[in-house]
Amino acid sequence: MTLPAPDPHCLFCRIVSGEIPAQVLAEGETTVAFRDIEPQAPVHFLVVPRSHYPDAASLGEAEPATVADLVATAAQVASAEGVDSYRLVFNTGADANQTVFHAHLHVLGGRSLTWPPG
Ligand code: AMP
Ligand code: ZN
Repeated sequence: MTLPAPDPHCLFCRIVSGEIPAQVLAEGETTVAFRDIEPQAPVHFLVVPRSHYPDAASLGEAEPATVADLVATAAQVASAEGVDSYRLVFNTGADANQTVFHAHLHVLGGRSLTWPPG
């Protein structure tokens, strides 16, 4: 399978390549986890695929196994961060507040989380 080339203008492609520094928590064959620069909870990190796809749906179409890797990495890093309750979020589309168009899984925890999230 041909993986998509990194997008030189994409912030998360540049974090994956190491060009832009981030607080990396885990690196795997298909995923990278790093702390969110503007945390919304005591524990807030992102898990991104190494491959560039604009959102979770297009990632899931092209690389379904990588979606499973994102969730498994989220669980491993959450456990390493000392949380056993957490929320997983894929903001998808501008109206859902997606601001970076490289698929990413938010992992939020370390406080009680309200529902619905708003
Ligand atoms: P979203 O709004 O779902 O697209 O999420 C993008 C997330 O990326 C936001 O929570 C930002 O705080 C986070 N973010 C933006 N720039 C960086 C960066 N350089 N390092 C880590 N997280 C970032
Ligand atoms: Zn990208």
